[in-house]
Amino acid sequence: LPAEFQAAKPILDTIEAAGYEAYFVGGCVRDTILGKPLHDVDIATSAFPAEVKQLFKRTVDTGIEHGTVMILDHGNGYETTTFRTESGYQDFRRPDQVTFVRSLQDDLKRRDFTINALAMTANGKVIDLFDGLADLEQGVLRAVGIAEARFHEDALRMMRAVRFASQLGFTIEPQTEQAIADNATLLTKIAVERTRVEWEKLLMGQHPIAGLTGLLTTGLYRYMPAMADQEGLLRQLMALPTWHLTSIESTWTLLSWTMRLTDEAAVRHLLKMWRTSNELISHVTTAVKAVAALKRAGRLTAQENFYTGLDALTTANQVATILGFGQDQTELARAYADLPIHDKHELAINGGDLVKAKLVTPGPMMGQILTACLQAVITKQVANQQDDLLDFAGMVADSKNH
Ligand code: ATP
Ligand code: MG
Repeated sequence: LPAEFQAAKPILDTIEAAGYEAYFVGGCVRDTILGKPLHDVDIATSAFPAEVKQLFKRTVDTGIEHGTVMILDHGNGYETTTFRTESGYQDFRRPDQVTFVRSLQDDLKRRDFTINALAMTANGKVIDLFDGLADLEQGVLRAVGIAEARFHEDALRMMRAVRFASQLGFTIEPQTEQAIADNATLLTKIAVERTRVEWEKLLMGQHPIAGLTGLLTTGLYRYMPAMADQEGLLRQLMALPTWHLTSIESTWTLLSWTMRLTDEAAVRHLLKMWRTSNELISHVTTAVKAVAALKRAGRLTAQENFYTGLDALTTANQVATILGFGQDQTELARAYADLPIHDKHELAINGGDLVKAKLVTPGPMMGQILTACLQAVITKQVANQQDDLLDFAGMVADSKNH
């Protein structure tokens, strides 16, 4: 048993001692069997939420209407969900109603893929009611039950299929794949934000080609935002030498670049279609410019480093590296650290200082002189010292007055 399960075992033991069943379930069981690191440990139990809460001192109602209670223990939080069935998926997304049940089998039956429908006892015994182990071994994503019906219940599962294909390097079982192809249009019923999360995870997977192949062969990509006519984009991404993106920012930067969206408005438009945050838009537009600079010159100037900032530089360099014109990341971080200042507020003079020295009166000229000072400091022409900068500002003011 992995350390995370060892740590959580007392929770299962406590629930069982009270006469209920409790298991590890879902992704954590799948990843344990695959020998992959776990990010969270999910527990399923026959105890109803109120019963779970009675057994533990510290719990949080994270989703009690769906049966989920978080149990806090030694600094860890364990999402513990009552066995449940779901019904009435009227809109191809979330169920209208969840019903708590006492049977593990009913709970596992509602899960999306056989590899996600495994449970494990506190002692590490695997409960495999849908042949998920065989599919794990063979690297197959197979819907639990009738694939068509399962995608009708919840169309997001189609995106999850290609996302898991990318994360695990698995292939989608033919009937499951056919059902995605037949029902792809249902993806438009899903909130863009939820589709986006799966798309980002797909692009950050260890086997992105497997995920992209799934999108292409099923045609699912056509129903993703702004992707209807992007077969060429997918093929270009698939033609790149092996790549691995490690941040959401990098995924959008690589997409924007590959779609040749180099001007800011075009990048912004794409990201708006996908309902990303303004923070992400600003990061990606900055990073795309830096990718262009790297492509053009092979390296960035001190000014470009300053205005891009280390985070967007790192994004840009990851993408440029995939595209074959990246810089050594350590070198890049060193060049950035070597900048005399990293923020314009660190400049040793401000407008007030210029006025006091009678070099300028408030107005547009003041901004121009401050910008010139900033450039001079960044490029190490002038030290970031007030005296030096006042001398320099005086020269700039003179030249502007003539
Ligand atoms: P990861 O957390 O690594 O992204 P996961 O398999 O744990 O993968 P979650 O979204 O955390 O995925 O969901 C936990 C479990 O809940 C899944 O393993 C699956 O059994 C079930 N599940 C999640 N989403 C769905 C869905 N849309 N339809 C059916 N079952 C689902
Ligand atoms: Mg999970």
